[in-house]
Amino acid sequence: SKDDKFGIIKSAFWHRKFASTSSSYSKKPKVLFLGSGWSSVFFIKNLNPKLFDLTVISPRNYFTFTPLLPKILSGTVETNTSTEPIIEYMRRNFRNNPQFIHAKCVDVDSDAKSVTCDPLDSGEPSFSVPYDFLVIGVGAQTNTFGTKGVEEYAYFLKEIEHAEVAFQKIVDNFRAASMPSLSDSERRRLLHFLVVGGGPTGVECTGELSVLMSRHLGKCYPELMPFVKVSIVEAGQRLLPSLSQSTSKFVLNVFNKSNVNMYFGKVVSEVKQKSCVLKEIKTGNTEEIECGLVLWASGLKETDLVTKLKRKWNIPESSRALLVDQYLRLQGLDNIFCLGDCCKITPTKLSENVELVLEKVGSPTLEALVNARKTLAKDFPQLNDSKWNHKDEKFQKSVSELKEKFTEGTKEHFVEVLKLVDHGYCPPFPTAQNAKQAAIYLSRLFNSGAVLTGRYVDSAFCEKWKGTLASLGGMKVVMNSPYFNVNGGLFPFFLWNGVYMLMFSSFKMRLSFFFDLLKNFFFSRHLIL
Ligand code: FAD
Ligand code: NAD
Repeated sequence: SKDDKFGIIKSAFWHRKFASTSSSYSKKPKVLFLGSGWSSVFFIKNLNPKLFDLTVISPRNYFTFTPLLPKILSGTVETNTSTEPIIEYMRRNFRNNPQFIHAKCVDVDSDAKSVTCDPLDSGEPSFSVPYDFLVIGVGAQTNTFGTKGVEEYAYFLKEIEHAEVAFQKIVDNFRAASMPSLSDSERRRLLHFLVVGGGPTGVECTGELSVLMSRHLGKCYPELMPFVKVSIVEAGQRLLPSLSQSTSKFVLNVFNKSNVNMYFGKVVSEVKQKSCVLKEIKTGNTEEIECGLVLWASGLKETDLVTKLKRKWNIPESSRALLVDQYLRLQGLDNIFCLGDCCKITPTKLSENVELVLEKVGSPTLEALVNARKTLAKDFPQLNDSKWNHKDEKFQKSVSELKEKFTEGTKEHFVEVLKLVDHGYCPPFPTAQNAKQAAIYLSRLFNSGAVLTGRYVDSAFCEKWKGTLASLGGMKVVMNSPYFNVNGGLFPFFLWNGVYMLMFSSFKMRLSFFFDLLKNFFFSRHLIL
């Protein structure tokens, strides 16, 4: 496209310019990427191989297409369909001899500009890898909130192995429950599948489990169907709290119709080998429920590496992630960047740059700020239309409260208004679509030379929400978009398949997914019991 051509010309220009001004610049700068997930694949694909050397380090030598995990859990798609060998991907998309190191990064030394890695084979010594620029994209892990028994007895759904192990456990439970010697109560326990968390992961898993039980395992074991139960526990008052009320209602109806047991306002406070304890948040009352499988999908927490780096770089304990500025730079360290679930954007504060803001705004009033927001949003994403609505009732109420303490039109009053805007900034959600957008943005910053020259002339990063799709199993899909919401029906179903087909990282994945769909349509699921 025209934009791409312009980008290449611009890149070649700074590259020549930089090369001629730096005597030490004999080799290309070495970019080191930690991780092989969503942010990694889009960074690799968009970084210019003519300008940088690239090394990727990850304990996983493949990329996982996470939206398909609930479908692996239910045997709808095969493992190969949602994975892509990262080395092959790098060779295809970053042709200039990229290097992959199959190891786990355990530390970063920002002074020495190197990372320490542990090989996956225990007993082998640690080693270090130098970098000029480091990009951290190590994702997150499932949060257990330190709940007793979760690590020992619950199942997760963050990685391919999790989905495979949980699927096998479901099948094993059916086999065990079919033994004639078993008591009915033990049969009922084995066939009770309980999902913890009513966010997108929990809801998608519950939907898939429900379809797997009723339409597929039910055909293999019709005599066991009266004993089968699927439950979901949500601490809040509705499923999919980040989507619209109408979508939550639709999911509630679908689950009611498929006899899914739903618990609201309750948390699972302990998981035992054959049961779990439910605690009502309001009253503190507890009840113990027998079950054969607990699937834990209660949100995210940082990885061990991020915990270590947070301590090292004095990032507050309370933050779930590494803090980066609006250009995705780690605060205080100019040559380290972070992407995806492992970071949280905290943009430079307007209230700490009052003089600069006033220069652009003219007068210290809310009206002037609103008029100048487009120009200022280039550097301060908190002023972007998607982040700040000055007509919002809550914001207007806070502004009118300010009038009691400060005189309108004064600098003091203006600073307080800026503080409200700063405070209202909501960082991007930890989703694949945001990780992808951030990765493409950062690769462009690299290609344009901004990271080398330190001159950040491009606009600050601000994600664009393009919509959310969640599959409830079978052909039921819900969709929320910036323009309209559709729950159920053929349109979101085809959209889900179309969007993900486009998002797959290779043609092989697309073909494989297409064949999985065909196989399912004509021959039902391939269940080896
Ligand atoms: P990841 O994709 O998790 O990748 C992290 C990488 O870092 C991995 O390769 C890991 O092995 C590696 N790593 C970890 N520790 C280290 C270390 N110490 N050293 C080196 N490498 C390391 N989002 C959507 O937008 N749409 C969806 O439909 C959707 N569906 C989802 C379904 C499920 C079941 C789940 C769990 C998530 C889903 N998400 C979805 C969220 C999405 O998967 C994440 O937001 C996305 O994976 C984040 O990308 P990332 O690159 O930050 O991390
Ligand atoms: P989440 O944080 O979105 O939801 C977790 C839910 O679990 C919350 O509603 C919380 O109230 C509940 N919870 C926490 N502890 C509990 C307990 N002990 N007992 C009962 N309920 C408990 O987490 P997620 O669903 O894993 O999603 C993580 C991220 O991945 C989100 O950003 C999400 O948008 C994204 N994601 C997106 C999709 C999609 O777009 N289709 C699918 C999966 C995940």
